[in-house]
Amino acid sequence: MRELIDKLYKNNTLTEEELRYLIKNIDEEEKKYLIEKANETRHRYYSNKVFMRGLIEFTNYCKNDCYYCGIRRSNKNVERYRLSLEEILNCCEIGYNLGYKTFVLQGGEDGYYTDDKIVEIIKAIKEKYPHCAITLSIGEKSYESYKKYFEAGADRYLLRHETADEIHYSKLHPKELSFSEREECLYNLKEIGFQVGAGFMVGSPYQTVENLAKDLLFLKKLDPHMVGIGPFIPQKDTKFKDETGGTLEATILMIALTRLLLPKALIPATTALGTINPLGREKGLRAGGNVVMPNLSPTNVREKYSLYDNKICTGDEAAECRKCIEGRINNAGFEVELSRGDNLEWRRK
Ligand code: SAM
Repeated sequence: MRELIDKLYKNNTLTEEELRYLIKNIDEEEKKYLIEKANETRHRYYSNKVFMRGLIEFTNYCKNDCYYCGIRRSNKNVERYRLSLEEILNCCEIGYNLGYKTFVLQGGEDGYYTDDKIVEIIKAIKEKYPHCAITLSIGEKSYESYKKYFEAGADRYLLRHETADEIHYSKLHPKELSFSEREECLYNLKEIGFQVGAGFMVGSPYQTVENLAKDLLFLKKLDPHMVGIGPFIPQKDTKFKDETGGTLEATILMIALTRLLLPKALIPATTALGTINPLGREKGLRAGGNVVMPNLSPTNVREKYSLYDNKICTGDEAAECRKCIEGRINNAGFEVELSRGDNLEWRRK
């Protein structure tokens, strides 16, 4: 096993068979060794810096019906909300004053926000904060729409692939959604020039070790600038409400493997990881994570953006989140970094 880990550390790749073997057979001591190697790799490129991104959850309306997600369209128990341009700008102002130089606009796939409206939002933010980066996370759109957003000034796009296996994908989503569409979107985003983030949930229903190995190799092939990995957490109003959630250990293992496969990637220690374990985010950082995304959404809407149950930080004002996260980063032995934090290999076309 150590030889396999050394090989991964040195070459930043393994075969599908080797990955399966590693995931299935790694023991506690070997995991520690793997995590050490992942941490070393992250230090080589990003030292002990942790990049901050201010997250604005601007709409919980969604036209999709992903079986695992709390804001899926058929969930009638969600009180739906949308933020106005003014409210979004207000979040940015609060974030800017706290030192954030990236604003992540995330939401369900909400037709109310036409391309023109998204472009208007991007331009308004860029006009006020020209030196800040804008990350969008608003789902699957056409090539033309993505291009409009990029030309308006958006820099990054997060679109987790969720699972790289068609059959597994079809067990998590209704039939109008497919892995091939998702994949095409990711390649379109890359071609247009975005910094692109893919990723997956760990422990989602029906997931196998084979699926996980495939996810990792899909990431290796796509070579995204960012990778979001978090545990699946059941949500009470979904058909997966009684399923078991993903574990801290399995998620940490996937983060460490991803760091070794993609040494220069920006990898967040996710809120979901902090939700399943009080020290989840710290452990995520120690396993190779180098990004955190404190919430900037107005506190009165946070509970309504319940992708999964028991989500943390829903009551904290942005300034409290900032302070709390900084303390956690420092306690874990890292340092808050307040520059834009672009991927080392990205330049705007
Ligand atoms: N609509 C956009 C999209 O599809 O990319 C962005 C919002 S979507 C709610 C953001 C991410 O939340 C998804 O990519 C998914 O991985 C994650 N998510 C949704 N439900 C979850 C759950 N029950 N547990 C953990 N993560 C979940």
